[in-house]
Amino acid sequence: MPAVVAVDLGLIGAGLLGTPFRAGDLVAFLALLACGAVCIEATRRLGMPAGVGRDLLSAWWLPVALLLPPMYALLIPVPIQALLQFRVRRTLIYRRALVAAAHGIAGACASMVFHLVVPEPLQGAPQWVVDGYPGIPAAVGCAALYTVMNTAIVAVAAHAANPESRWRDVLWTREILLLDVVELCVGILVAITSALSLTLLILALPPVVLLQRSLMHQQLQAAARTDAKTGLLNAAAWQREADTELSRAQRTHGAVALLLIDIDHFKRVNDTHGHLMGDQVLVGVASTLCHQLRDYDVVGRFGGEEFVVLLPGADTVEACRVAERLRGRVRRLAVPAEEGTVTVTVSVGVALFRTHGDDLLELLTAADLALYRAKSSGRNRVCLPALDGPTAPAA
Ligand code: GH3
Ligand code: MG
Ligand code: MG
Repeated sequence: MPAVVAVDLGLIGAGLLGTPFRAGDLVAFLALLACGAVCIEATRRLGMPAGVGRDLLSAWWLPVALLLPPMYALLIPVPIQALLQFRVRRTLIYRRALVAAAHGIAGACASMVFHLVVPEPLQGAPQWVVDGYPGIPAAVGCAALYTVMNTAIVAVAAHAANPESRWRDVLWTREILLLDVVELCVGILVAITSALSLTLLILALPPVVLLQRSLMHQQLQAAARTDAKTGLLNAAAWQREADTELSRAQRTHGAVALLLIDIDHFKRVNDTHGHLMGDQVLVGVASTLCHQLRDYDVVGRFGGEEFVVLLPGADTVEACRVAERLRGRVRRLAVPAEEGTVTVTVSVGVALFRTHGDDLLELLTAADLALYRAKSSGRNRVCLPALDGPTAPAA
């Protein structure tokens, strides 16, 4: 992480010394920066909670990379990230620095390659736009290079910070890919527009702002469903999805099991290692649960240090088997702390649709009873409610 920022600062230093100053370049830079600032201000009121990470700001810094010398591509993320930090959402400075450096380095590389194909993209009549070839394919290629490099740098840093995370999640999901393509297209269109005339930016700004607002809106809706700390479904969203699953099981006469999972003696973790470390443990447990379950299992954070899982199609044996596996995996989880690592165990209450309850409320009550049994019989175990069946074997 510090290496990325150091490389970026080194390149900025070299760029400042090695780039000849041209007033036209500076005017284009400031015009695109102003558009970016307007975009940020126009969407600021929508708020940007943790988890809402995507914006359309590349629409402004991609043209900077394509049209201006590489030094400007290195510079533009700095004021943009500063604006985001002070006007939209305060976050850890090092995270802002990393994002700015990743954008800067990726932009500068794209810029260098594009300038090899089109040496003076802003000078005189923009012949690369009129001719179409090779300027436009080069612009598309460089925009793609920029996206790939930026994503790769951020993904490597994110993976280094959290080795548990799956590459698939930090790299490209279908949704991320779609957004990247949209950003790339908008960025190239804005680059072409501003190469023709900077005053055309006045026409480009409103549609980009509108696009950005709708993108934010979509992400806010998604964020409203998730628990910001763990990324799992929050209690309300989990209940909605679980209700849908139960209705389906009712129709199809299918089996469904519910697991209520509670971390044992979690208060001690907070008391011994502090609340922040407690949060890290919550994140670790949540990601362990996710990795161990199928895509169609419904996992949520029910509150505090309590998680809830709905297993469609699972009968008693299968549910206890999954619960035992989750218990075993969490026990092996070691969250790095200042002195050594933190480990925790979980107790799990299991309840079966129809056997222990005919609707979600009854199932939750039964699972809660089972969890109580697990806690009172020594913790770190899986239990069924008392009314029938044996207690699942403890470790
Ligand atoms: P038991 O084995 O009986 O479950 O004991 P416990 O200590 O886990 O249970 P208790 O319910 O007494 O304590 C739960 C603690 O979880 C208390 C609360 O401070 C902590 N907690 C709840 N939400 C959060 C959170 O978001 N972050 C952190 N760090 N702690 C939390
Ligand atoms: Mg607990
Ligand atoms: Mg609890």
